[in-house]
Amino acid sequence: MAARELAICGFNVTLLEAGRDFRPFTANMETLEPARRAGMLFDERMIELLFPQMRVDKAQDGMAHVRGCAVGGTTTLATGNAVRYDRYLADLGIGLDEEFAELEREVPQTTEHRAGWSELTERLFATFEELGLDPQVTPKFMEDPSRCVACGRCVLGCQFGAKWTADKLIEGLENVELVRNAPVSRVLVEDDRVTGVVAGHGPIARTYAADLVVLAAGGLGTPCILDASGFSTSPTLFVDPVLCIAAPWDGAGLDRQLPMPFVSQQQDYILSPYFDWLSFYFNKGWRMPSGNIMSIMIKMADTSAGSYDGRHLDKPLADADYEVLARAIDQVYEVFAALGVPAERTFYGTLNAGHPGGCYPLTRDEAATLHHDSLPNNLYLADASLFPRSIGNPPILTIMALAKKVARQAARATSDLT
Ligand SMILES: Cc1cc2nc3c(=O)[nH]c(=O)nc-3n(C[C@H](O)[C@H](O)[C@H](O)COP(=O)(O)OP(=O)(O)OC[C@H]3O[C@@H](n4cnc5c(N)ncnc54)[C@H](O)[C@@H]3O)c2cc1C
Repeated sequence: MAARELAICGFNVTLLEAGRDFRPFTANMETLEPARRAGMLFDERMIELLFPQMRVDKAQDGMAHVRGCAVGGTTTLATGNAVRYDRYLADLGIGLDEEFAELEREVPQTTEHRAGWSELTERLFATFEELGLDPQVTPKFMEDPSRCVACGRCVLGCQFGAKWTADKLIEGLENVELVRNAPVSRVLVEDDRVTGVVAGHGPIARTYAADLVVLAAGGLGTPCILDASGFSTSPTLFVDPVLCIAAPWDGAGLDRQLPMPFVSQQQDYILSPYFDWLSFYFNKGWRMPSGNIMSIMIKMADTSAGSYDGRHLDKPLADADYEVLARAIDQVYEVFAALGVPAERTFYGTLNAGHPGGCYPLTRDEAATLHHDSLPNNLYLADASLFPRSIGNPPILTIMALAKKVARQAARATSDLT
């Protein structure tokens, strides 16, 4: 989004992407079944061997952290939820109404997917309603809803052209040059100004000169580049942990449904039906056939504590996080109980996360400029690293709104300087 906005402002943009073009994982799941049943898939990081565009890091406590490494970033793996959640930015005095209004016109979003819901999804929705959990149909980033076949594989990439992903943002923009397979290792600084970045692998790394650098390598990627460049980041990483609670349910078929079709917003967490492929393949408790598992996702806002240096991911959960999780688990048990499933029959998924951010948070001091004084004048950030705290909600739409505003601000400030 930042690249797009800078191009629209008239800049010649070089977009340096660590990954290559995205390819969905299209293999027949049946071929993996013998290995799964034999317990040969025991570490989530093994997924990279089959599907290199999905990166999994393990934190010290075992939480699996998932992200995309391809043109389009993690949006390629997303379930397409398009949720506005900017109250913490608004609290700092950062207004994004204009940007969200533009996004409504520029990025296809729809709630018109209910016709494709299964009987069980409808029953879950009704149960959530009966329990006063106020379920809301989830708006989805959909390029062409008619192409969605409810294959249930959004997180493995959409092979049908239904899901919208962020690579579309630079299509047709002549002044954006996309360089693939170009991981940025550091920014170059002279006399308190950034002069460019170093990108590429080993001996073929090269310098790209620039008047303005915007880092948007994601909540785990951006802090690594900053740290390697001598700008220390803050150990305030959040990740929005996810835990699925599942139960056996003959013919559930959630593995062949649009994931997260509706969402229930609760204090500090959300609940949503979700078939968890990560747990299905890598968690011993999930050995039954995928079609017979009913599962509800808890996604929670976590405390800002943790760091990533490119090798070690430190993301401990605090007591307060476990308290939120316990509250959410009790509520999921209530849903299962209303469906006639006692808590003893349920089982947990693998604790995982995919919404990293918070390592260079904005404060009120930066609300007007969206730029930290601790960084050179011509170095900006445009991803969830800037979020002041975890939102416990799908962040793509809000990241894009913020990135739009950052890019425009950066363009204005750079034009003033030159
Ligand atoms: C399975 C899954 C499902 C999700 N579903 C949703 C959803 O439905 N809705 C939602 O709102 N959010 C969802 N999310 C979260 C969302 O996808 C991410 O939070 C969001 O994409 C982050 O955007 P970003 O631009 O900050 O980072 P990313 O999308 O991760 O993009 C960062 C890009 O930078 C590249 N990069 C990293 N390091 C470097 C480097 N050193 N040099 C050059 N390039 C680099 C990466 O390859 C990547 O392309 C999901 C996450 C996961 C894991």
